[in-house]
Amino acid sequence: MIIRLKKNTNSEQLNSIQNKIKSLGCDFFYREKHNEIIVSKLNNEKPFEIFDFVDEVLLIETRHQLSNTIYKNKTRFSVKDIEINSGVATIIAGPCSIENEEQIFETAEFISKLGVKFIRGGAFKPRTSPYNFRGLGIDGLKFISAAAKKFDLRVVTELMDLSLLDDVYNYADVLQIGSRNMSNFYMLNELGKINKPVMLKRGSNSKTFEWLLAADYIMCGGNEQIILCERGIRSFDPEMRNVFDLNVIPLVKSMSHLPIFADPSHGCGNATFVPQMSLAALAAGADGLMIEIHPEPVKALSDSQQALSFFEFEMLLNKINKMTSAISNQTQNITEQNQILTSPK
Ligand code: PEP
Ligand code: MN
Repeated sequence: MIIRLKKNTNSEQLNSIQNKIKSLGCDFFYREKHNEIIVSKLNNEKPFEIFDFVDEVLLIETRHQLSNTIYKNKTRFSVKDIEINSGVATIIAGPCSIENEEQIFETAEFISKLGVKFIRGGAFKPRTSPYNFRGLGIDGLKFISAAAKKFDLRVVTELMDLSLLDDVYNYADVLQIGSRNMSNFYMLNELGKINKPVMLKRGSNSKTFEWLLAADYIMCGGNEQIILCERGIRSFDPEMRNVFDLNVIPLVKSMSHLPIFADPSHGCGNATFVPQMSLAALAAGADGLMIEIHPEPVKALSDSQQALSFFEFEMLLNKINKMTSAISNQTQNITEQNQILTSPK
């Protein structure tokens, strides 16, 4: 349940309603910026009718509240003039890791020529083995942001730890929260206080409601610029790196107003299948894709098996363009047919 308070509610009134909620044995969170109280486990608006400073009560019967479609119809926001969730799929491309200046500039130049507006690249990498390449750190952030500036791109890069927030904030346009940090609640709480988009990847062991509650954590602080990103979940089957959960795309779209992107690169972990799964994710309704590419995939210092070459990526982008225009033509035709059918004779 979300209780919206009137603008001029004073602290005494706020205390009185909070005491009432406590007396009902419920937990709650007061969202100061929005003057809203989010109450867990209460599906009856009646107890709050007596408070004349209550503006509106939203009955939301799921665990996730702020990310629920009852709270908001659709979240749209811009990243340096490029709108997210506008109906046009957003494409993010780039290497798993920023490896050197040349690699990231070459990638930036290539994708910008294709009309892609977002570049990805990790500077602080979460590696399973401590002996593997862990990223260039701050130098990597400097390289990717310089490349993005030169080719008019927006930077998507991972925030691995809160101690790095200031640096990553300065160089990134979208802060990526990786699978391993989806449940880092202290970090999510801090991200609620910033004014920059966050891409929240799904934890590899996380259920849908846990993922949506992680988004609620960020929203509690006031930041509503969130993109969810499906990146595959763990399964018993060792054939693929992960199970790329396509089901979750339409499911999340029905449960949440937040845009949902898909990362088929980590989803399947094999470059051979990335093109098919990219198209499948768009067909399932994804609002955007994040794809790993590399000038020389075999030489990539991380995730080389799943990186597309430039040529493969260009081929995929052609297919994406054909597919998305076919889908939008089809939608347009259906809308036109409906208009003909429903217009007065
Ligand atoms: C990545 O995008 O390179 C990455 C490490 O992703 P994830 O957190 O999904 O594993
Ligand atoms: Mn990667």
